[in-house]
Amino acid sequence: MNYLITGGAGFLGAALSNRLNRQGHHVRVLDDLSTGDPSALDPDIHFTRGDINDRPKLWTLLQDIDCVYHLAARVSVPESILFPRDYTHVNVGGTATLMEAIRDAGTKRIVLASSGAIYGDQKEALLSENLLPHPRSPYAVSKLSAEWLVRTIGELAGVETICLRVFNAYGPGQRIPAAHPPVIPNFIRQSMQNGTLIYHGDGNQTRDYVYVDDVVNALVSAGTVQEIDAPVINIGSGTETSVRELAKLVIDITGGDPEEVFNPRAGSGVSCMRADISLAKEKLDYVPLVPLDMGLRLTMEKDPQFKNGS
Ligand code: NAD
Repeated sequence: MNYLITGGAGFLGAALSNRLNRQGHHVRVLDDLSTGDPSALDPDIHFTRGDINDRPKLWTLLQDIDCVYHLAARVSVPESILFPRDYTHVNVGGTATLMEAIRDAGTKRIVLASSGAIYGDQKEALLSENLLPHPRSPYAVSKLSAEWLVRTIGELAGVETICLRVFNAYGPGQRIPAAHPPVIPNFIRQSMQNGTLIYHGDGNQTRDYVYVDDVVNALVSAGTVQEIDAPVINIGSGTETSVRELAKLVIDITGGDPEEVFNPRAGSGVSCMRADISLAKEKLDYVPLVPLDMGLRLTMEKDPQFKNGS
């Protein structure tokens, strides 16, 4: 099959691109490299640097493509609170631009990487797809808007669509930006360097952490599954872990002795997140294979960022 992967030089995108390439498929990647790194891609992958709002470039890249994976996005919740206009431009405007190009090119299928963040804070502990979304950040709003653009334009144009609501993905290759680093690689690095683990809020908030290979399994399945009769599907581990429990695991695995600090004013305002993954099991044969302790060990072993305790 021929695939176009937007945001394919990013953390999840590169893992997906390499997997499909190694399975013998033809993979094209479009990425503006705002956070992505093309050196993470296998050399035989066709890489184009460009913006998701560049319609002529999209049109060219879409020729002969069977399925598009749309992962290009700005991805930081705190940054989106500072720059909602940029997030809307890339995540919503870019999705509309892509859907126009897909419609006109006659592409058969699009798989969107949406986010568990669209649920926000809910009364139910287990988050299932039929809950009313309650986004708590411009990032979450942008992902929910992207879902509806994909679904609506897809339905009008006869394009097959699947939106995967990915929960907190982690694994080798995840960047650690200085501002707003993701919790898992940041905790690993801080613990290895005997630095500081900062808990946002009281540290009792839970998240559903899902290993990158499990997310890629779900994406691959969504690109190939015959029957598409569920427009949105959760992808997580199906378990929840508090930030304190996560820190304890990381400290045990790294053997570090970091200082632990609480920042009660920080946090996303979302207390508990656990994905109901029954629909993914039913529709995509999805079974998460990597428990958190194993995933943390694999991340430390495989990610060059953590070699030599750095
Ligand atoms: P990432 O930042 O590593 O990947 C995003 C990629 O998009 C980067 O390579 C970046 O350079 C590219 N990009 C950004 N703006 C672009 C633009 N205007 N034009 C073209 N390319 C652009 O992040 P990731 O964690 O790999 O996330 C990939 C996708 O999965 C995103 O859509 C994100 O919303 C979604 N997602 C990720 C997670 C997670 O925990 N990592 C959870 C839920 C959803």
